[in-house]
Amino acid sequence: MTKQKAADEVFCRSCGEAIKQASELCPNCGVRNDNYSRGGGTAGDVHDPSRYETSVSDTWWYGVAAGTGIWVLLVLAAAASSDLGAAGGLLVLIGWVGLPLSVYFDIQYVRANSEWDPNVGVWVVLSALWFVNIVAGAAYLYRRHQVLGEP
Ligand SMILES: [Zn+2]
Repeated sequence: MTKQKAADEVFCRSCGEAIKQASELCPNCGVRNDNYSRGGGTAGDVHDPSRYETSVSDTWWYGVAAGTGIWVLLVLAAAASSDLGAAGGLLVLIGWVGLPLSVYFDIQYVRANSEWDPNVGVWVVLSALWFVNIVAGAAYLYRRHQVLGEP
């Protein structure tokens, strides 16, 4: 049996019936349509910056940049086996607390002022992990630049 479908139809993954792409469930067997598309324009899971209000300043990215810089410095120092002594301990403390903190506050600003809605938990954890935080910090600032045009 040859199955035919129109341009706006897809085949049901369960029963193989041709069903409208716009239908969420297959009318024949009731299984969810994998190719279901809402046809765009519907809100819902689209990030809406106006849902967020924040009085956080837009300068937290300086902290993100400085924190990332500190970690680069620490990694370079570790690679060179140079002992930074007490200063090194202080830098670790500043980097470890400062970077995730800056990321946390900056995200409040970013999601209220751009279409980007960063996942707070993920970014804070990434910015607290050794080595990973250098990449995360750079990626964060790059993405921030894309959506906000700054820094
Ligand atoms: Zn079906």
